[in-house]
Amino acid sequence: MGFFDDLGKKVTDAGQKAMQKTQEMSEMARLNSLISQNENKLNSAYCQIGQLFAELYRDDHRPEFAELMTTVIGLEQENDTYKKQLQDMKGIQRCEQCGAEVPKGAAFCNSCGASVSQTDKQETVEDEIECE
Ligand SMILES: [Zn+2]
Repeated sequence: MGFFDDLGKKVTDAGQKAMQKTQEMSEMARLNSLISQNENKLNSAYCQIGQLFAELYRDDHRPEFAELMTTVIGLEQENDTYKKQLQDMKGIQRCEQCGAEVPKGAAFCNSCGASVSQTDKQETVEDEIECE
Protein backbone atom coordinates (compact mmCIF):
# COMPACT_ATOMS: atom_id res chain seq x y z
CA MET A 1 0.00 0.00 0.00
CA GLY A 2 1.45 3.37 -1.00
CA PHE A 3 1.88 6.35 1.26
CA PHE A 4 -1.03 8.27 -0.26
CA ASP A 5 -3.36 5.30 -0.03
CA ASP A 6 -2.41 4.96 3.60
CA LEU A 7 -2.96 8.66 4.22
CA GLY A 8 -6.30 8.49 2.46
CA LYS A 9 -7.36 5.61 4.65
CA LYS A 10 -6.34 7.50 7.79
CA VAL A 11 -8.31 10.56 6.71
CA THR A 12 -11.35 8.41 6.03
CA ASP A 13 -10.96 6.73 9.40
CA ALA A 14 -10.75 10.11 11.10
CA GLY A 15 -13.82 11.28 9.21
CA GLN A 16 -15.76 8.17 10.19
CA LYS A 17 -14.67 8.54 13.77
CA ALA A 18 -15.81 12.16 13.80
CA MET A 19 -19.15 11.13 12.32
CA GLN A 20 -19.49 8.33 14.84
CA LYS A 21 -18.71 10.83 17.59
CA THR A 22 -21.39 13.18 16.31
CA GLN A 23 -23.94 10.38 16.07
CA GLU A 24 -22.99 9.23 19.53
CA MET A 25 -23.45 12.73 20.90
CA SER A 26 -26.86 13.17 19.31
CA GLU A 27 -27.86 9.73 20.59
CA MET A 28 -26.71 10.77 24.06
CA ALA A 29 -28.71 13.99 23.79
CA ARG A 30 -31.75 11.99 22.70
CA LEU A 31 -31.39 9.58 25.63
CA ASN A 32 -30.88 12.43 28.10
CA SER A 33 -33.99 14.12 26.79
CA LEU A 34 -35.99 10.86 27.12
CA ILE A 35 -34.71 10.46 30.67
CA SER A 36 -35.70 13.97 31.66
CA GLN A 37 -39.11 13.59 30.00
CA ASN A 38 -39.68 10.44 32.04
CA GLU A 39 -38.40 12.13 35.19
CA ASN A 40 -41.01 14.86 34.70
CA LYS A 41 -43.70 12.21 34.25
CA LEU A 42 -42.43 10.40 37.34
CA ASN A 43 -42.53 13.60 39.37
CA SER A 44 -46.08 14.18 38.24
CA ALA A 45 -47.04 10.60 39.15
CA TYR A 46 -45.35 10.90 42.55
CA CYS A 47 -47.14 14.17 43.14
CA GLN A 48 -50.49 12.53 42.35
CA ILE A 49 -49.67 9.52 44.51
CA GLY A 50 -48.80 11.88 47.35
CA GLN A 51 -52.02 13.85 47.00
CA LEU A 52 -54.10 10.71 46.77
CA PHE A 53 -52.35 9.23 49.77
CA ALA A 54 -52.87 12.40 51.79
CA GLU A 55 -56.56 12.35 50.87
CA LEU A 56 -57.13 8.66 51.62
CA TYR A 57 -54.93 8.24 54.67
CA ARG A 58 -55.20 11.63 56.32
CA ASP A 59 -56.19 10.05 59.63
CA ASP A 60 -53.95 7.04 59.32
CA HIS A 61 -51.05 8.08 61.48
CA ARG A 62 -48.41 5.62 60.48
CA PRO A 63 -45.08 6.85 61.76
CA GLU A 64 -43.28 6.92 58.40
CA PHE A 65 -45.67 9.57 57.11
CA ALA A 66 -46.58 11.38 60.31
CA GLU A 67 -44.14 14.23 59.83
CA LEU A 68 -44.98 14.80 56.16
CA MET A 69 -48.69 14.60 56.88
CA THR A 70 -48.34 17.15 59.67
CA THR A 71 -46.50 19.42 57.25
CA VAL A 72 -49.21 18.98 54.59
CA ILE A 73 -52.06 19.66 56.99
CA GLY A 74 -50.23 22.64 58.52
CA LEU A 75 -49.52 24.21 55.12
CA GLU A 76 -53.09 23.63 53.94
CA GLN A 77 -54.47 25.31 57.06
CA GLU A 78 -52.02 28.18 56.63
CA ASN A 79 -53.13 28.69 53.03
CA ASP A 80 -56.79 28.50 54.04
CA THR A 81 -56.10 31.35 56.43
CA TYR A 82 -54.23 33.40 53.81
CA LYS A 83 -56.98 32.80 51.24
CA LYS A 84 -59.59 33.86 53.76
CA GLN A 85 -57.61 37.03 54.45
CA LEU A 86 -57.40 37.73 50.71
CA GLN A 87 -61.13 37.16 50.33
CA ASP A 88 -61.82 39.51 53.22
CA MET A 89 -59.63 42.15 51.58
CA LYS A 90 -61.46 41.67 48.27
CA GLY A 91 -64.80 41.85 50.06
CA ILE A 92 -65.92 38.40 49.03
CA GLN A 93 -66.74 35.14 50.66
CA ARG A 94 -67.26 31.69 49.23
CA CYS A 95 -70.53 29.87 48.80
CA GLU A 96 -70.45 26.78 50.99
CA GLN A 97 -72.52 24.84 48.46
CA CYS A 98 -70.69 25.41 45.20
CA GLY A 99 -67.56 27.33 46.17
CA ALA A 100 -68.40 30.34 43.99
CA GLU A 101 -67.25 33.78 45.12
CA VAL A 102 -70.10 35.75 46.62
CA PRO A 103 -69.94 39.43 47.58
CA LYS A 104 -69.90 39.93 51.31
CA GLY A 105 -73.34 40.79 52.63
CA ALA A 106 -75.17 38.95 49.83
CA ALA A 107 -77.97 36.71 51.04
CA PHE A 108 -77.83 34.20 48.20
CA CYS A 109 -75.19 32.70 45.94
CA ASN A 110 -75.33 34.12 42.39
CA SER A 111 -74.19 30.81 41.04
CA CYS A 112 -76.29 28.13 42.72
CA GLY A 113 -78.85 30.15 44.66
CA ALA A 114 -77.97 28.67 48.03
CA SER A 115 -78.44 30.98 50.97
CA VAL A 116 -75.15 32.37 52.14
CA SER A 117 -74.55 32.55 55.84
CA GLN A 118 -73.76 36.01 57.11
CA THR A 119 -71.64 34.75 59.96
CA ASP A 120 -67.88 34.61 59.65
CA LYS A 121 -67.84 30.87 59.71
CA GLN A 122 -64.56 29.08 59.18
CA GLU A 123 -64.59 27.78 55.66
CA THR A 124 -62.39 25.47 53.73
CA VAL A 125 -61.26 26.52 50.32
CA GLU A 126 -61.13 23.54 48.04
CA ASP A 127 -58.43 24.71 45.69
CA GLU A 128 -56.44 21.69 44.58
CA ILE A 129 -52.77 21.88 43.83
CA GLU A 130 -52.34 20.76 40.24
CA CYS A 131 -49.73 18.13 39.56
CA GLU A 132 -47.85 19.05 36.41
ZN1 LIG B 1 -73.24 28.59 45.34
